[in-house]
Amino acid sequence: MKTFSSRLIRWQKEFGRHDLPWQGESAYRVWLSEIMLQQTQVTTVIPYYLRFIQSFPDVATLAAATEEQVLAHWSGLGYYARGRNLHKAAQRIVSEYGGEFPATYEHLLELPGIGRSTAAAISALARHECRAILDGNVKRVLARYLGIDGWTGERKVEESLWEHAERLLPARDIAVYTQALMDMGATVCTRSRPRCANCPVNADCVAFSSQRVEQLPAPRPRKRVPEREATFLLLKHGSEIMLEKRPASGIWGGLWCTPQVEAEGEGNYLLQNGMEILQRREMAAFTHVFTHFKLSIRPVLLELARKPVRLQQQGCIWLEVGEALGAAIPSPVRQLLLTLQASQRIS
Ligand code: SF4
Repeated sequence: MKTFSSRLIRWQKEFGRHDLPWQGESAYRVWLSEIMLQQTQVTTVIPYYLRFIQSFPDVATLAAATEEQVLAHWSGLGYYARGRNLHKAAQRIVSEYGGEFPATYEHLLELPGIGRSTAAAISALARHECRAILDGNVKRVLARYLGIDGWTGERKVEESLWEHAERLLPARDIAVYTQALMDMGATVCTRSRPRCANCPVNADCVAFSSQRVEQLPAPRPRKRVPEREATFLLLKHGSEIMLEKRPASGIWGGLWCTPQVEAEGEGNYLLQNGMEILQRREMAAFTHVFTHFKLSIRPVLLELARKPVRLQQQGCIWLEVGEALGAAIPSPVRQLLLTLQASQRIS
């Protein structure tokens, strides 16, 4: 029987994806796509990728941009540390490598936000270097194909998967093979309802032959996700709303948000900032899910008699709603502004 890699390579040439906008592109563009694809699906990524490339066509343009501009292009993609790291890495590429993308896998690994699998993907796809990738999709394919038990996030299981990923590498056609693994995970060996009948390696897949496809890979051990509550204050004056910049580190670091207070903190906030309220309206509450906790958001729309002078001095900005939607804002704030825009048509 042909090897795992030769079957995948053959399959990719005939059935794989060949029209993704970053395929066959420079290391910079492959890198950008790899970072965007972490935790995010291809269909979501494509419009973000195209907008990003239009504004920052190369690493020098990205390095010269402000973090604010980069995050505005990332707004809505989530996991904003990815965007901040991308920007920092671009600046290091310019300052330490004269704007040339680092030539070796080891140097790639030193850049912020680039781990073992991302460095391998850039090396394999853009430079045809024989390196093994192991992202979430590939872990699933290998765990099923080889019948590996245990949660793939567990260190021992992950180490074993890395060993197998390296052992299975082909002697040639590494870029096609790497793309094949990605395509297999995204289109055939999917999380739910995999298409085993159309799989190029079903003849010796352990999960398939032992009818354990649904059980592998083992799910992450359940942990109760803590819940937090916050009140988001949408301070409005005329057709403008106020946003404040989040501290550089922590959740939504460097993004523009509505002021956020604890459940009982609204009155104090208004008093401390000398705000005179003309109208107050509670908007529909909703929940935003982070990796480690859930945030239950209670939005309150407050129509102010005037803009508070003190807050303007503290780096807050007032923007028309339409303008705010183009700024570096996180998804829940975007959601609120869109609701506001739809209900009041004030942009
Ligand atoms: Fe995945 Fe099914 Fe192929 Fe096995 S046969 S690798 S479970 S798609």
